[in-house]
Formats: sequence, C-alpha cells, structure tokens
Amino acid sequence: MPWEAYTEGCIGCGTCTYLCPTCHCFEIKDTEENEIVSRRRLWDSCMYPRFTLHAGGHNPRAAKPERFRQRVLHKYVYLPQNYGFTACTGCGRCIRYCPGGLNIKNAVADIQKRTGEVQDA
Ligand code: SF4
Ligand code: SF4
Repeated sequence: MPWEAYTEGCIGCGTCTYLCPTCHCFEIKDTEENEIVSRRRLWDSCMYPRFTLHAGGHNPRAAKPERFRQRVLHKYVYLPQNYGFTACTGCGRCIRYCPGGLNIKNAVADIQKRTGEVQDA
C-alpha cells in the first residue's frame, strides 16, 4: 500500500487522535512534589514520532507511514478481527481538522480497492 503517499502532508501533530471519539492511547507519568508521589494517566497519540520509542532506543514505528498504517489497521482490521466492530464512527473530525490534509476515509477506500475488497460501482 502507498502509505508514504497517504501520509505526505502529516506533520505528526496528533490532532486526529485527540479529536477521535474512539482513540484511547495513553501514557503513565509519575511525578513527585513535596514528597507526594502521583501517578497520572495522560492522553498520548500513536501519530507522535516517539510514541513507540523503546527504552533501549529502538523505535519500531519511527516513520509516519508506519504510524498511519498502525492507526488504520488498528481501527479497521485488528478491532474487527478481535471484537467484531471497527474503531471508527465515521464522524469525520480527523479529516476536517487535519492541518496536513490527510483523509483516512480516502485511504481506506483506496486500500479496499487495491485489495479487491470493494469493487468499483
Ligand atoms: S491531524 Fe493530520 S497532520 Fe496531525 S498527526 Fe493526524 S494525520 Fe498527521
Ligand atoms: S472519522 Fe473515524 S478515525 Fe476519524 S475521528 Fe471520526 S471516528 Fe476517529
């Protein structure tokens, strides 16, 4: 699949994931202030370059095409396989507010066409 072409305009801002009603990635941060330690769950984004960075320095999804591929497959392949539904409501927020002009709907339609999952009308 032409993942590089799909993600040409992506600047890795994470807006698409923060606006998405089904995205739920998070990170855990421990902070200490006045001898009180807090553990907090914070929103994170699979579209950030460092999202999958390992402690040892390896990053399995260092490039944006790999990150977008994961986002698409997670929503439209892994969730249906594991739970029987997609992780996309079709709300279009990620398309409307993406500063890079990415369109997940067009990417999925193109993938379906290329894989023969959906034929031209
Ligand atoms: S909103 Fe657009 S530019 Fe920002 S991370 Fe998502 S796809 Fe990339
Ligand atoms: S169109 Fe789908 S992927 Fe995009 S914000 Fe809405 S639910 Fe999320």
